[in-house]
Amino acid sequence: MEKRELDALVEILSRKEPVPEEVWNLLLAAPSVSDREYLAMRAREVAQACFGKGVYVRALIEISSYCRNNCRYCGLRCSNGDARRYRLSKGEIVDSCRKGAALGFNTFVLQGGEDPVQNDAWLADAVAAIKAEFPEKAVTLSVGERSSEGYALLRSAGADRYLLRHETADEEHYAFLHPQTMSVVNRKQCLYELKRLGYQAGAGMMVGSPGQETRHLVADMMFLDSLKPQMIGIGPFIPAKGTPFAGEKSGNVEQVLYLISLLRLRFRSALIPATTALATLCSDGTERAVLAGANVVMPNLTPLEARDKYTIYDNKKSNGSESAEQLSLLEEKLSGIGYHIDYGRGDYEGFEKLRYV
Ligand code: SAH
Ligand code: SF4
Repeated sequence: MEKRELDALVEILSRKEPVPEEVWNLLLAAPSVSDREYLAMRAREVAQACFGKGVYVRALIEISSYCRNNCRYCGLRCSNGDARRYRLSKGEIVDSCRKGAALGFNTFVLQGGEDPVQNDAWLADAVAAIKAEFPEKAVTLSVGERSSEGYALLRSAGADRYLLRHETADEEHYAFLHPQTMSVVNRKQCLYELKRLGYQAGAGMMVGSPGQETRHLVADMMFLDSLKPQMIGIGPFIPAKGTPFAGEKSGNVEQVLYLISLLRLRFRSALIPATTALATLCSDGTERAVLAGANVVMPNLTPLEARDKYTIYDNKKSNGSESAEQLSLLEEKLSGIGYHIDYGRGDYEGFEKLRYV
């Protein structure tokens, strides 16, 4: 595309009004290398206007590899007999937070399968225990679909944020990726409910999942536009052993980076992570994501005995700069591109003045 055509599209993305479907169609059709580079540069400018050259860090604690669900893509699906299962105790979770606090983290992300033992009351206890010891720090949950009452209980226990990727906004594609017991309608409903309850809510899709077409990504963008999440996490699909999609190919790194740029240009002050899945496929994935507009990294703080058992996909990276114990490696990577770690809580601030022109 001509630069002035791209500029016109970027201008539409920066408006308050919903973005018309044709605009997403144009942007997602077949971007050339130079289109992608130009939009990454524009996205970087927006990210820097909102966050400077700081990248927020969140300590990720993977609290359970048990899951009652059977998502076709995920290594933790209940019918994967080869998955190694563990669940952290509340004491182990709080201990991990102590380690994270000593390392300088101000957000703890508790992520896990939908483990029937770690039910709403159990999790509410764990959140309350963390908040009692670290009232100033943010707690993010990522523990799947729950009832409105469950989300409300966890919110009143002190949870500040919730990550629940919608995975794909298209009903048929959702049904292809999930068992019949799950539905995109419920997934989306959960996200609206989380927002209503005052969580900072995170949605997002897997990129390059089996059966995904461009029109599905258009639907994802349209859904995000109506939800207006505070956080948007996207990463490439990566096959997982013991799942129906074990033999499928991974998502495309360039496509993930391009989508990060589009998300930044549209959701200007959203918190957008450089995900572990991207870093797993590409050794400089974190730096490239930041240069495409991402502003969050989530290093792994799961206790070492459990860390290699949380295999949602194969060869998941959890060492080096992906590990919470080695923040200096992350700092080195970021300083190599002129960025640095921002140790602040990194709440969504809305930067309304920057959000729309
Ligand atoms: N059970 C919770 C949280 C754990 S899974 C939930 O499902 O929301 C967290 C995320 O891992 C999922 O949202 C999904 O997008 C991602 N994931 C699962 N399997 C994956 C795979 N094979 N490749 C890439 N990402 C995957
Ligand atoms: Fe369970 Fe989440 Fe994996 Fe689905 S994606 S099987 S809900 S851990």
